[in-house]
Amino acid sequence: MLVHICCSVDSHFFLEKLQTDFPDEKLTGFFYDPNIHPYSEYRLRYLDVQRSCKKLGIDLLEGEYDFETWMSLVRGLENEPEKGARCEVCFDRRFDVSAKKALELGETKITTTLLVSPLKSQEQLKRVGDLFYEKNGVEFIAVDYRSGGGSQDQSRVTKEEQLYRQDYCGCIYGLTMQRDQQGKLMDEMFSPLGNQILPASIEDRLELYQRRMDYEDAGQEYQLVREKFLNYRQYNLKISISKRLVDAHALIYSTLPRKKANGRIEHTINDIHFMNREEVKFITLEYFNTLSKSSFKTVKEMIFNPLSVERESEVRQKLCHSPYDLSPIFILDELKEGKIDIYLDAKNLRR
Ligand code: SF4
Repeated sequence: MLVHICCSVDSHFFLEKLQTDFPDEKLTGFFYDPNIHPYSEYRLRYLDVQRSCKKLGIDLLEGEYDFETWMSLVRGLENEPEKGARCEVCFDRRFDVSAKKALELGETKITTTLLVSPLKSQEQLKRVGDLFYEKNGVEFIAVDYRSGGGSQDQSRVTKEEQLYRQDYCGCIYGLTMQRDQQGKLMDEMFSPLGNQILPASIEDRLELYQRRMDYEDAGQEYQLVREKFLNYRQYNLKISISKRLVDAHALIYSTLPRKKANGRIEHTINDIHFMNREEVKFITLEYFNTLSKSSFKTVKEMIFNPLSVERESEVRQKLCHSPYDLSPIFILDELKEGKIDIYLDAKNLRR
């Protein structure tokens, strides 16, 4: 039986149940989910499915990430709500490709882990599956592992196995609507220019879950521990001196309450230049290099090859007199005389 897999939270429990209910079937997992956006989130979900299938002794195949085809299929349905017309097209596509895969492999049965997802309509899935059976002769196994306490069992398994629990269905349209309704920043779509790995970003989780796999492969003990911290996201920075734009970098956790500030350098102490407004501080790249033990030639070079967030935070600690100082700190190639205009759109969010 070919089992289309959408994510580990749905698949681990589902596959365990299938192994019990269909002991004579050889199960093959098929991860085909080009709906998942962005690609880093797709990789993260796949990684956790790999781990789950490995634990259960189930072969896993990866489908093509044909995201552009998926996008063209749902064109015009962008504003549909979840469980609406876009989702139907999305299921159709994933079914169609999975069922073709089943035919290609000589399988006669197919099912999908989407059947246990509380966000999906079982009737909708069954309709699509039955239609495919009529067309292609691959039987759709519509098991119901949700009722009779199934959902509670699934939550227990998710916790016990420490599976990666995503908090959105998968596509950019569902995610946009969800974050709009929650009034939350669409953090998932942030990709810093220099690919710096931001705390709690998908890339950060990808590294964490990869490390977890490595520990498990090496038989090393580990524990995933949750943390609360101040999260930082920067949208835009622009600094001009005497109306001429200059290359600049805002040190992590730099924010301005009204996004804009202007002023002049008031005094300089120990290579830190203090502006007369908003507690703004400036340092030159040369001083930054000294503090961070790096050797950037220009600020531009640093923007495209940034230090890790941890190393940037260390520089902040060296520049501030207290651990709770969140003054905006900017790094420039050199500090010129003149009126300084700053536009910084950035947020600190508690996570
Ligand atoms: S919300 Fe989920 S099921 Fe619906 S189209 Fe997006 S990814 Fe597919």
